[in-house]
Amino acid sequence: MSARAGIVVTGTEVLTGRVQDRNGPFLADQLLDLGVELAHVTICGDRPADIAAQLRFLAGEGVNLIVTSGGLGPTADDMTVATVAEFCGRDLILDTALEERIADILRRLMRARGVASASQDVDFDAVLAANRKQAMVPAGAEILDPVGTAPGVVVPGSPTVVVLPGPPRELQPMWSRAVATAAVQEAIAGRTRYRQETVRMFGLPESGLAETLREGELRIDGFDRLEITTCLRRGELEIVTRYEPDAADVYAELVDLLRSHHPREVFSTDGSLVDDQVAALLAGRTIATAESCTAGMVAARLTDRAGSSAYVAGGVVSYSNQAKIDLLGVDPALLDAHGAVSEPVAEAMAAGALARFGADTAVATTGIAGPGGGSPEKPVGTVCFSVRLADGTSVTRTLLLPGDRSDVRERSTTVAMHLLRGALRPE
Ligand code: ATP
Ligand code: MG
Repeated sequence: MSARAGIVVTGTEVLTGRVQDRNGPFLADQLLDLGVELAHVTICGDRPADIAAQLRFLAGEGVNLIVTSGGLGPTADDMTVATVAEFCGRDLILDTALEERIADILRRLMRARGVASASQDVDFDAVLAANRKQAMVPAGAEILDPVGTAPGVVVPGSPTVVVLPGPPRELQPMWSRAVATAAVQEAIAGRTRYRQETVRMFGLPESGLAETLREGELRIDGFDRLEITTCLRRGELEIVTRYEPDAADVYAELVDLLRSHHPREVFSTDGSLVDDQVAALLAGRTIATAESCTAGMVAARLTDRAGSSAYVAGGVVSYSNQAKIDLLGVDPALLDAHGAVSEPVAEAMAAGALARFGADTAVATTGIAGPGGGSPEKPVGTVCFSVRLADGTSVTRTLLLPGDRSDVRERSTTVAMHLLRGALRPE
């Protein structure tokens, strides 16, 4: 037994790439957690014929559940519910109780927006007429109360179809309600509970990992019970493994193998990110940043999490040589002798940030993000890093990072996080 699902993301803005799809990935994650196998995510525009084609395709693939996102608004181009009703062979019926609930929501919204009472009646009738459409639901469908103004529906059948609104902040809570319905529970009855674990590595090429995994295949009994996917993300290797609970021993052997072959590169086996680890290591400390090529990206990453004000003192974006001299006290002679992209300058920047902010931890970046500015000795992608602690400990590295300008800047940010982790970790 198994349960399979498909996702239909609708919306011309998503199809054209103007809006990046967040609903497909969210629902994919949720289905995975439930133990439902996701067969396809399809994206189409707002045209009913295209939406119907996707529904036919997924039904033809034999999925038990289809989830759609988008196209539930009051305007004429929002056609998903009508299209799904026709696909499922059900009439659209006006649900008067639902219409009243939507009217209530709209009244509250308009009051909150401070619509003047004189014009309210006129406006409101027009709004109500437009929104009557949202109270038209397929016969026999379960209704998901709106988070915004658009209700969702669950149409039981084979496949069962869940229709959700496009805005992610509406879709996400409504998905939880959809899962609780009898129709969805029945559709996913054949699901298998999997475990999923993540190992993260840094500083190992994908080929190195592939070799270790080949060895695992030979040495570990039951290796084929692990469904392993590896991906390179922001310069880190992410190894996600899915397995049935009784293969936990096999997974433990894989983790042992990875750790024994790559003790320095494996930095997380509990799902934590380097950002989580650095945040924990910075507890009770204060950090300052001095950034040239990353121009604030390291500071942004450090402050991405709530509570970072407890340990982030501040940072300097010292892009020009003059800013390095004026704001961080870098000796002009160092810049002349070694150039801005050099280890002595990175070290001086870190020392400057430490002193300037009275911090006990500092990190500095200076590099050539490209596409211009490279030279034979310092090609594009050359980046110098320095981490300095108040006790005088300092770690300085120069790396040649691959990719275009944005890759080099993003990778640099990740490298800076890993150097911080290395410097702050008790050995
Ligand atoms: P509304 O009542 O807001 O019109 P709707 O269900 O009709 O709801 P859409 O018109 O499809 O939703 O989308 C409304 C907005 O929600 C889009 O302009 C976009 O900003 C956001 N949105 C829709 N689909 C997605 C998606 N897949 N990923 C991210 N954002 C989305
Ligand atoms: Mg809409």
